[in-house]
Amino acid sequence: MDKIELSKHKKQGDTLYTPFTSPSGLGAKLSLSSWARCWLPEFLWIGLIIRKQGRKKGFENMYHIIEELKDEDMVIPQLSKIFGLSAEQQRKYWSIVTRYVEKNILLPLTVVITSDINETFYDSFYDFSINVDENISELLNIANETNRFHDELSTDICFIVDWFYIQNGRLYISNEIDIVPTALSEYYKCNHEDEAMRIYRPVIRSTFQGLCNLDCSKEFSEKIWKVLGKISECNPLVIVWDEEKEKMEFYEIAKQTIEYFAANNEDKKMETKYSVIMGMTCYIYRIYQEIIEKQMQNNISGRILFRTMLETYINLKYMMQQEDEVPDVYDRFKAYGNGKYKLVMAKLREEKYTVSDDSQIDERIMELMVNEDMDEAFVNISIGYFDKTSVRAKFKKCGEDELYEIYYEYATNFAHGIWGAIRESSMLICDNPAHIYHCVPDYHAEQNLRSVLSDCEMVMKKTFEAIADYIEFPEFYNI
Ligand SMILES: [Zn+2]
Repeated sequence: MDKIELSKHKKQGDTLYTPFTSPSGLGAKLSLSSWARCWLPEFLWIGLIIRKQGRKKGFENMYHIIEELKDEDMVIPQLSKIFGLSAEQQRKYWSIVTRYVEKNILLPLTVVITSDINETFYDSFYDFSINVDENISELLNIANETNRFHDELSTDICFIVDWFYIQNGRLYISNEIDIVPTALSEYYKCNHEDEAMRIYRPVIRSTFQGLCNLDCSKEFSEKIWKVLGKISECNPLVIVWDEEKEKMEFYEIAKQTIEYFAANNEDKKMETKYSVIMGMTCYIYRIYQEIIEKQMQNNISGRILFRTMLETYINLKYMMQQEDEVPDVYDRFKAYGNGKYKLVMAKLREEKYTVSDDSQIDERIMELMVNEDMDEAFVNISIGYFDKTSVRAKFKKCGEDELYEIYYEYATNFAHGIWGAIRESSMLICDNPAHIYHCVPDYHAEQNLRSVLSDCEMVMKKTFEAIADYIEFPEFYNI
């Protein structure tokens, strides 16, 4: 495991750097139910009352409000439904509410429930001395505390809504199921810390769920989120992973091992097998070295390079396995590669395309290489895999299914620019609850990734293991 700094949130500029304490922590926060998206805005007013007055007083006052609303035959908790009443009824509704609730408690809602959404509500609560910023942050605070259905305040809101439904006669409690009436009659007496609440809370919420689908307006909720989303700013969260230092130990050993190879093996150096096997080993090592020396372990490039290490390793291992059956497997591998180069080189030479003089591609160098082993007239161009076996099959035949299914497949997302990789590396999640967890591009490259060093080390070790029967290792290296 990486060492993750579990220190507090660090605020820099307008970005909050979060301690990524546990994947379940963030994961749970991100799991959005229809609660926040479709239901919560309908009941934000209830949430504000409980939050500002406290549970005890808030519940008591809501109880009285519901009782009085009952006399007027207006026992409705949803804002969208209240707004559907006549202007006179609405004025009556809010005059009952304000008998128990100070106007400034519901004032923040006028930031989103503007007069074009509902004039009566706006006129009843708007105040010209309003501090817009304060009220926006008030709304964001409550949205934050109630964003998840399982939050305590969310459950308190559900309790009040359940109560509305009992009082308007639409919630019938069957005596056979005794936990529901117990929960409903005991809930308000208990603190959230009380043991009994572990049973009551789910009952309260599931009762709510059973009722609410019918009466809530998704359109209304969307409208409220949209207004709040517009007027509040993005708050992108950045996950910053530590750069690993402790992985250097194996790198030093690998480096000395490679030195040892370089100083030995005089007897083998003319063999094709040697040039292919050790060339590939060197290629894998050089990528590993580049990742470390250029400190790319936490970058996108580190992941793409890691994938190439993997692919090279599997080709290496696969060929060594094939060797008995296909004695010229190493020659074939080279010929396949030369053919690939020849294909590109010939198109340039025949002027099908031309590249700029500054391009990375140098036709003459390619030509030289293609003709290195034999005259290019004899170099066939094979456009399939060098022995027509897919990468997947090679991993399988080498008994490296996990390497393919997990590591290679994951890294492929990065190599091919697939969304998951884009999301993980280049997008930040916005922590503004009003924005319902959308993602914003990480334009300033603040996000990094978990280090690939440990996995690179694993592939390097596997490579050494694969060639251990062929090449002599120094005594300090333990296979
Ligand atoms: Zn945002």
